Formats: sequence, structure tokens, C-alpha cells
Amino acid sequence: MTEIQFLLKLQELDIECLALETALKELSVQKEIDKLEENLRTLHDRLDRACLELNRVRKEQKHEEWEIKDITMAIDSISRKLYGGEVTNPREIENMRYRLDTLETTKRKLEDDVIGLMEKSEALESEIARVNLESTQKETEVSKLRDKRDLEIADISAKLTGMTEARGKLQVQISDSLLKKYEQLSKDRGGHVVAPIRGNICGGCYVALPSSIIILAKPNNRVVRCENCGRILCWQE
Ligand SMILES: [Zn+2]
Repeated sequence: MTEIQFLLKLQELDIECLALETALKELSVQKEIDKLEENLRTLHDRLDRACLELNRVRKEQKHEEWEIKDITMAIDSISRKLYGGEVTNPREIENMRYRLDTLETTKRKLEDDVIGLMEKSEALESEIARVNLESTQKETEVSKLRDKRDLEIADISAKLTGMTEARGKLQVQISDSLLKKYEQLSKDRGGHVVAPIRGNICGGCYVALPSSIIILAKPNNRVVRCENCGRILCWQE
């Protein structure tokens, strides 16, 4: 094999390497992971909000229960006085009855509120349980996907390592000046810069090559470039 042929092989490797590096950057499993992680963040936010709200509702409930307790004590004390025969003044009795009515109305309202708060707590508790379950399922899912991604990365990285070694072996078969030319061309125009000759056609731009060019390129011992696309030509038997 001549160095031009080695260069063609090296180019194949480079293109394959580039494809693998792109695949590494654009792993579809990583996109799935990103989506699930976004989902999880939303779930955690929901969970935080529900927990905060539950805390607030429980505090409010406790506060109202204390209030009910205080009011009950006040009602008991007034009732004892009122029905114990301690108070005889009709005006005072009327005042106490009025006070008792007001307290009982407030107590009933507070009891209704407590029932409402208990219902709210229950709803929040079941929401928290639901979100927790969903989070756990999604966390398991994301953890499996991370394992899958790590395997894919390891697989591609191993391939890339193998290819770098293979490239090193090819590279020593190619003169520095040709390699430099190839690298410069690759940098300037990207893609395939070495084109095999197929029949009398340039494998890069598919234009027919003049026979003078084919004669020059055939020995594969010098750099001959396609007059149309500028690629380095490689004769193939
Ligand atoms: Zn060409």
C-alpha cells in the first residue's frame, strides 16, 4: 500500500471517529434523562409546596382547636354561673345569655372551620403520597437510564480508543508533509478531502477526470488533486 492509500484509510477512520464523537454528544438516552430530570424537578417543587401548605393547615387547625378549647371553658364557666343560681339580677342574666349565644356561634363556626381544615389536610396528604410515589418511580427510571447512558459512553469511548490506536499505526505510514496537507485541507473544508477514483470518476465530486490526471494519479506515489473539487485523488485497483 502507498501512503495515499494509507491516507484514504486514515480519512475513513477520522470520519468514523467524528461520527462517534457526535453520537457521544447527542446521545438520545441523555435527552430522555434530561426530560425526566426536568419532570422530577417539577415534582419536587410540587412536593415542597404541598408540604409547606400541609404544615400551614395543620398549624391553623391546632390554633383553632385551642381557641375552641378556650371558648368551651368560657361557655362552661358562664353556664355554671348562669344555671347555678349564683346570678339573680335579670339584666346580668340576659347579658350572660347573650354572651353564651355569641360564644356558641363562634364555637360552631370554628368547628366547621376545623372540619374544612381536616379535609384540606387529607387532600394534601394524599397529594403528597401520590407525588412521592411518582417521584420514586421516575427516580428509578432515571437511574436505569443513567446506567444505560454510562454503558453507551463506555462502549463508544472504547471504540474511540481502539480507533485512535489504529490511527496511530496508519499515521506512521504517511509522510509528515502529506499528513500536514491532509490536516490543513480537512480543517479548511471539512468532510472528505481524499477521494478514491472510481473508473475515471472522482469519488468526491463525481466529475469525469481527464486521462492525464488518471495517469498521474495511478501510481499513488504523489499528491494529485481533482481539478474540479480539489480533493487529493487515490487510485484504486
Ligand atoms: Zn473531484
